[in-house]
Amino acid sequence: MPHATLAAEFVADEPRAHWHDQTLWWARAKRDKAAHCVPEWEQLREAAAQIKAATMANLAHYLEQFEANAMRLGAQVHWAANAAEHNEIVLGILERHGVRWLVKSKSMLTEECHLNPFLERHGIEVVDTDLGERIVQLAGERPSHIIMPAVNFKREEIGKLFHEHLGTEAGASDPNYLTEAARQHLRDKFLAADAGLTGVNFAIAETGGFVVCTNEGNADLGVSLPKLHIACMGLEKLIPRAKDLGVFLRLLARSATGQPITSYSSHFHGPMPGCELHIVLVDNGRSAILGSDEFRRSLNCIRCGACMNTCPVYRRSGGYSYEATVPGPIGSILAPAGDMKRFASLPHACSLCGSCTDVCPVKIDIHHQLLTWRHEIAAHGHLPLTKLMAMKAASFVFRHPWLYRMAGKAARAIVPLLPRFMVYNRLNAWGRQRELPPMPKKSFRRLYRQRGKKAER
Ligand code: SF4
Repeated sequence: MPHATLAAEFVADEPRAHWHDQTLWWARAKRDKAAHCVPEWEQLREAAAQIKAATMANLAHYLEQFEANAMRLGAQVHWAANAAEHNEIVLGILERHGVRWLVKSKSMLTEECHLNPFLERHGIEVVDTDLGERIVQLAGERPSHIIMPAVNFKREEIGKLFHEHLGTEAGASDPNYLTEAARQHLRDKFLAADAGLTGVNFAIAETGGFVVCTNEGNADLGVSLPKLHIACMGLEKLIPRAKDLGVFLRLLARSATGQPITSYSSHFHGPMPGCELHIVLVDNGRSAILGSDEFRRSLNCIRCGACMNTCPVYRRSGGYSYEATVPGPIGSILAPAGDMKRFASLPHACSLCGSCTDVCPVKIDIHHQLLTWRHEIAAHGHLPLTKLMAMKAASFVFRHPWLYRMAGKAARAIVPLLPRFMVYNRLNAWGRQRELPPMPKKSFRRLYRQRGKKAER
């Protein structure tokens, strides 16, 4: 379904849309405060952008270096060309170890590959151990935000969900009580797990180690108790040197949640004694993006979520309206690269305000890339007919200044005469959500007449 249709459904529940908007804006404000406390913030962003650009320019070299060093440390490295191969590799490892119960820390890559339903079809129970991920898993949903997967759930809804699945008191919505209930519930899962699976935030080519950032410590617990650890990472997670890590860790937490550092930045260098560590390197369309001059920089993304928190469209339309694994501005670049026709509406779900580009810690020119996608989508004939006609009409008007001036005058004369319901109605959901002064109760026509009379006086 196009983004606009799903967004209209979301904003139809006005109080929820407002609450969602305010919640995300709170995260954006925290990010601003945290960034302003670091005088060298802009230098850090520039350094991160340059490190990422250099890495992408030599990605094949760094991947081979990482593989060699990771194997030297005792890890087993696997390469997956796409999601299906990734899932088969993970399943093969789990089956060889007779795993029936897997605990997983947050990994957008495994969401992208739809690993959970795949493993469950093969009789392996998967438990997401990140609290937000566990909430959406119990609800049978997918994450609506990459950092705060359950940001669209109100605490009362979580209370109801936990009452149904974890047996908490009916009507309980106290966050401390619910968190403690989740903690007890997950503890049993950790103790019973046969294997732990994590994502990777940063993989370091020169050492062969990698870093996983969490706030709950669930990745550490999930891989410390079982003897098998599988780490799944997209090719773009590489950084060349250990000394580069400080740049990204300082940027990531501040951009994501406004914290100076994530509570746990866990470093893994080879398997623990008597254990196995498997690293699965996944392409799944990344090489194609790397080969594109226009969109290569989107691979620099460190998945902080800051562009979502600041985006006026994401905040008011919710993560599910994007229907992509990664929603929001960066998701609207990545998703059409995988399936241009299906996600053709996403680059249009953007006001081109540039706020995403301003906050991005690795200086991705997000709104420019979204504009480029619009051109690509139009060139490939994926625009809906109504939009195509409207754009052709606009293009014609813009190419004829006399027509443009006449249209402006006509609009000025006609719009004030329109009845109020033509602007503020159920179909025009955006009209009710804009940050404009409240619409006066009087119709445009009456206001126009009054203004005319005042002018005469
Ligand atoms: S594009 Fe930039 S702001 Fe958005 S998630 Fe990625 S790193 Fe963060």
